[in-house]
Amino acid sequence: MIKRRITRQVSLGSVKIGRNSPVSIQSMTKTDTRDIAATVRQVKSLESLGCEIIRVAVKDISCAQAIKKIKSKIKIPLEADIHFDYRLALEAIASGSDSVRLNPGNIRKKEHVVEVIKACRKKNIPVRIGLNSGSAGTNSAKGMVKAALDYLKIFEKEKFFDIMISLKASDVYTTICAYREMAKVCDYPFHLGVTAAGSAQAGLIKSSIGIGALLADGIGDTIRVSLTGEPENEVIAAKHILQSLGLRKFFPEIIACPTCGRCQVDLSKIVNNFYDAMLDTKYSTLNTKIALMGCEVNGPGEAKEADMGIAFGKNAGTLFKKGKIIKKVSYKDAVKELIKLI
Ligand code: SF4
Repeated sequence: MIKRRITRQVSLGSVKIGRNSPVSIQSMTKTDTRDIAATVRQVKSLESLGCEIIRVAVKDISCAQAIKKIKSKIKIPLEADIHFDYRLALEAIASGSDSVRLNPGNIRKKEHVVEVIKACRKKNIPVRIGLNSGSAGTNSAKGMVKAALDYLKIFEKEKFFDIMISLKASDVYTTICAYREMAKVCDYPFHLGVTAAGSAQAGLIKSSIGIGALLADGIGDTIRVSLTGEPENEVIAAKHILQSLGLRKFFPEIIACPTCGRCQVDLSKIVNNFYDAMLDTKYSTLNTKIALMGCEVNGPGEAKEADMGIAFGKNAGTLFKKGKIIKKVSYKDAVKELIKLI
């Protein structure tokens, strides 16, 4: 079992981050924040998949003002993403943002940061010091840690400790090293991520290695898997990362064979449909191992350790439970029948 790093705890709206709270999942909307209807639609879609915190881009004052209406229509806490202009943070806080992310690389003036700290203290909300390697003017893990520590001094001098930290580089190993070093010198909770990770496939691999390595070390309190494309994929990926490490449980364990020359059906279609069905939160507490196997010759045998499953022949499948055959089902009805058995 993973022993998690001991940290302070902050509250981002109703979600606790750090100490013994579960590692939370967050994502970021990809809509123009000023388009309230589109942004709310995207947040609701992410909420329904299990996203626990949402971040929105605040590129001008209208975005900051839109937060008020967005917040009134969504359930999960919202973090405002602020770059360049500290006044956007003040406006987002006034609009009811549950947290603000400041980029130390482009909000540098001490007096500006202090203004934001005062506003956060008044509303009792945390700040994320969100450092990215490029904008921090350094590409090394050491440089990132130093930049974060210098920035932290402004907060600590003001006796403000409701802080989360992220140290994201687009290079996976630099990201890992930066967080590991930072974990040695502070006890603030960490938001983990690999920045600009890339496409659904490449980005997923980079994020899984970066975030996964740190989580396995016990480092990390909330995660965002940055992927180019639909944000829904970020939430699903985050769930898989956390479940793979035994840190959270979201769906039953699914075993699927890779298929070989014996397989006579489109197993990948079946597996994808089944995964989609299992995303429904009603299956999250199910402690069942389910196997989807490409052939009836080896399927039930290979999946002996599964509680139940299905092994396919030509256009049909055999449902099995603990290695014993239950009944034959057509290829078309296979997923439906398996869900019925569950
Ligand atoms: S279960 Fe059958 S189809 Fe799948 S890998 Fe094994 S032998 Fe091949």
